[in-house]
Amino acid sequence: MTNAPQVRDHGGGVWSIPVPIPDNPLGHTLVHLLDTDAGPVLIDTGWDDPDSWQTLVEGLAACGTSVAALHGVLVTHHHPDHHGLSARVREESGAWIAMHAADAAVVRRTRSTDTARWMGYLAEKLAAAGAPESHTAPLRKALAEGRGGTLPGSRAALPDREIEPGALLPLPGRRLRAIWTPGHTPGHVCLHLEERHPGAAARSGAALGQKSGAALGQETRAGLGQESGAGRERGGHGRLFSGDHLLPTITPHIGLYEDPDSDEVTDPLGDYLDSLERIGRLRPAEVLPAHQYAFDDAEGRVNELTAHHAERLSDLRALLSERSLTPWQLAESMQWNRPWADIPYGSRNIAVSEAEAHLRRLVKLGHAEPVPDSDPVTYQATDT
Ligand SMILES: [Zn+2]
Ligand SMILES: [Zn+2]
Repeated sequence: MTNAPQVRDHGGGVWSIPVPIPDNPLGHTLVHLLDTDAGPVLIDTGWDDPDSWQTLVEGLAACGTSVAALHGVLVTHHHPDHHGLSARVREESGAWIAMHAADAAVVRRTRSTDTARWMGYLAEKLAAAGAPESHTAPLRKALAEGRGGTLPGSRAALPDREIEPGALLPLPGRRLRAIWTPGHTPGHVCLHLEERHPGAAARSGAALGQKSGAALGQETRAGLGQESGAGRERGGHGRLFSGDHLLPTITPHIGLYEDPDSDEVTDPLGDYLDSLERIGRLRPAEVLPAHQYAFDDAEGRVNELTAHHAERLSDLRALLSERSLTPWQLAESMQWNRPWADIPYGSRNIAVSEAEAHLRRLVKLGHAEPVPDSDPVTYQATDT
């Protein structure tokens, strides 16, 4: 038995269902439901786990619909807390699944990459980043013994439609525009509901069952001409389903776009900062993120995140002006939410990937450069 999901009615044919992510400090994914004239559409689906599925099923019932009635699934990005249940939803409803091409490519690649190839790639990459032998040894050992199990995401659903950046989605009765926001993943999208915000009372997000009270409140406030949410006072427009791109207090992970088949030197942090700026310019009246809670001040949050990364980049530049460092050493020197010694194995890999993303940005900006003939390569600050 799962607890009754705390479904929220955001008004104007939009609901959110918190679908739990097992054993994860994030807690849950806010799966959104959008009513359209062709039937209800999901934005993200949640983690592939029996309890999560049960919560989604009960949540849809609380919204007055069902899995079988779903018309389509829009996936903000390929991560398993967003795309995990898409296959099962499609199986039970016949709904289409849409995703940006760059993330669809990641899904396709993950399904076809065998574990040995992936582990070999990871071991090599970590060694090149300066990881000590003790860190890569377990990977090499598992590889030599043919262990490793299946890769997470190897059974994820292949999308059958593409989300075209900049285009209105073909959803009868709604104006929902796709905005490509690469950074957290190469094909992350935010979805902008270009419709008037339904009103202050609905935004308090009363649970279903208290709907009549909320509706009454809405009438009263509208009648008094006090519809004065901060977003609308600033002339914000519409609502933004922001996925993991813009969250109220969490800084999304920006690492490298891992691709064993490509040598392209991508700049995910640069992509992310560009995407942030574009979202800030949209000025939505409200943000409906995929984790935590809905919030108003998109522009303020964008400014905080931009400042956070600028500060981090300047700290790293200062570190590199003291001595040259490998990406691994840089990760060890960076500020994390706990001392490096306490960071578990898998999270260290994520931390190194984040350090490398910052290094690439510094190199692109001309603030850092690789030391010639260093092996593994170390980086130093430039004088500019
Ligand atoms: Zn994510
Ligand atoms: Zn997520």
